[in-house]
Amino acid sequence: MPELPEVQSIVDSLHRLNIPDRRISGAAVYWPRSIAEIDPADFCKKIKGRTVRRITRRGKYIVFGLSGGLTLMIHLRMSGRLNWEPADQPRNKHEHVVLQIGKTHSLRFHDTRKFGRMWLTAAPERVLGRLGPEPLAASFTGKRFAKMLQTTNRQIKPLLLDQHFLAGLGNIYVDEALWEARIHPQRTSGSLTRREVNALHQAIPAVLRKGLKNLGTSLGTGQTNFYLPGQRPGGNAEALNVFRRTGKACPRCSTMIARIIVGQRSSHICPHCQKENHA
Ligand SMILES: [Zn+2]
Repeated sequence: MPELPEVQSIVDSLHRLNIPDRRISGAAVYWPRSIAEIDPADFCKKIKGRTVRRITRRGKYIVFGLSGGLTLMIHLRMSGRLNWEPADQPRNKHEHVVLQIGKTHSLRFHDTRKFGRMWLTAAPERVLGRLGPEPLAASFTGKRFAKMLQTTNRQIKPLLLDQHFLAGLGNIYVDEALWEARIHPQRTSGSLTRREVNALHQAIPAVLRKGLKNLGTSLGTGQTNFYLPGQRPGGNAEALNVFRRTGKACPRCSTMIARIIVGQRSSHICPHCQKENHA
């Protein structure tokens, strides 16, 4: 599933394609459930003729500010991606929504698993306003993070995955950050020492920035995998320390990396570096 670095890399590549300031000259929906809340015919009618003013990211949402006060939000969920194709290129069967951009190209929502959603709304804050802080923002200070962790006593891994607590993290970058900070995923937030809180507060932006630098993490070569517009995979898989490296050596201590289940999600840890019973 695309997380903050993958979604941001997509947003950056949409800028490189010069989509801002261009006009959406038409739209077609081939899988109605890809459109949230409103009728697909209504979606097409409302979006046609609008100019893309800006493209940003909030959490795992791609946010298009459109002319006339509307916002298009895209959540890629499990397998969504955006393809950039010449307008006359035949549609792939997994391309469920096609936006014509100007006369020559189309931006296509490709989603093999069909969990992804697009919203067209005048009130984006209704969805985006419920998200937790951005981990790469200057306002995400150590002090603020420590305070956030004190408000609850949940297991740290499910807590970091909760988008209302902190926006943008998913399974890959949480496992990587917890390894970096030497914290077991089943530790409770209230049990973390000040030193561990500081380590985690540094590790989260560090693993995200590394992922961003490598243009995201693509695992394998399947259709459900993450690709940038233009079918380019991200390069961060090589740089992962624990995620999906079960049975391989911990880069820090050479102990074999283990896979455990935490809150119904598989987690990858070094049993030596990340002890459950903190002394
Ligand atoms: Zn280790």
